[in-house]
Amino acid sequence: MSERIYMSSPDVGQLEEDAVVGAMRSGWIAPLGPDVDAFERELADRVGVAYGVALSSGTAALHLGLLTLGVKPGDIVVTSTMTFAATANAIVYTGAEPYFIDADSATGNMNPELLRDALVSLRAANETVAAIVPVDLLGKAVDYTSILAIADEFDVPVLSDAAESLGATHSGRAAGSFGRASVVSFNGNKIMTTSGGGMLLTDDELFAKHVRYLATQARQPVVHYEHTDVGYNYRMSNLLAALGRAQLSRLDEMIAKRREMREFYKQLFADIDGVEVFGAEGDEADNVWLTSIIIDESTAGWAPRDLTAVLSESNIESRPLWKPMHKQPVFESFRGEIDGTSESLFERGLTLPSGSALSGEHRARVLTTIRGFLTAR
Ligand SMILES: *Cc1c(COP(=O)(O)O)cnc(C)c1O
Repeated sequence: MSERIYMSSPDVGQLEEDAVVGAMRSGWIAPLGPDVDAFERELADRVGVAYGVALSSGTAALHLGLLTLGVKPGDIVVTSTMTFAATANAIVYTGAEPYFIDADSATGNMNPELLRDALVSLRAANETVAAIVPVDLLGKAVDYTSILAIADEFDVPVLSDAAESLGATHSGRAAGSFGRASVVSFNGNKIMTTSGGGMLLTDDELFAKHVRYLATQARQPVVHYEHTDVGYNYRMSNLLAALGRAQLSRLDEMIAKRREMREFYKQLFADIDGVEVFGAEGDEADNVWLTSIIIDESTAGWAPRDLTAVLSESNIESRPLWKPMHKQPVFESFRGEIDGTSESLFERGLTLPSGSALSGEHRARVLTTIRGFLTAR
């Protein structure tokens, strides 16, 4: 069988290898060190915020971001239903209750009108909304102009889940710079990777300080390890930060590669009735992390599962969009403002190989397989 082609595999080479070996030889192994400081500086500069705190994962960054906003048991945290489970998990870690907002049909991002409806009814019921966590889906920034205005109106802080959108912009401002703080992820499948890791980004010095404090076991600044809060061991290791710095130096190159793949797909599906490249409109501002298509079965004459079956035969990975959180067994008891959009996207959507590490040969195999499928139909 031919080599497996993945949707988004890590794009690492000699530069990354040299960086990790260099960090190891420098003696800064355990666990913090100069590469962590430099990585925080470089990523914060790239996004245009004052502070970055490098952490063990994007999930850890969400967790500490929520705690630093003061989210506590019994509070409500409003978030997107169309996201990866990590967003909802982090909310539940704090003891708060996630409240899911349905999606805009063109982008999959949080629908601002439904957000407003939710805040109006929660306020009327006298419930405490401690934070809003919008998610930049698949590399497209949320409509922050609308979301931040609504958040302001109701005086609720925003923690932006920019785990998928590093390198994207909204109104000329970088994803990761919106709200009180933002979270990015460097998991293996993301736009850039530290094998595992994340960062909290903010302009607020005290916020960054508190996150750093919680992430290092909430140690008071005295020699005998005094503790007045429950802490976490969530910092990023220096070896991984070195890898992150090498990846960051290639971020634009990796985005450009993904954009090439996006353009191939746009051409491939341009004349196919009933198939649209998801979120293609306005995607110049996106990092185009993953490319998905939305299939209208009655027009196209085929369903996502039909293409998936053909791709699988050729050992090519494809997957539905994120299954909405309000449909997940673990979260379905939570409330939300749901209008069916995300369920429909989940049923009609298919995500295709999009990674920057795809070789020319891999790209050709994907495109030939899909073209063959379309022709046979
Ligand atoms: C990947 C991801 C996360 C979690 O990041 P990790 O680094 O894997 O913990 C959170 N939110 C979204 C939307 C993600 O895609």
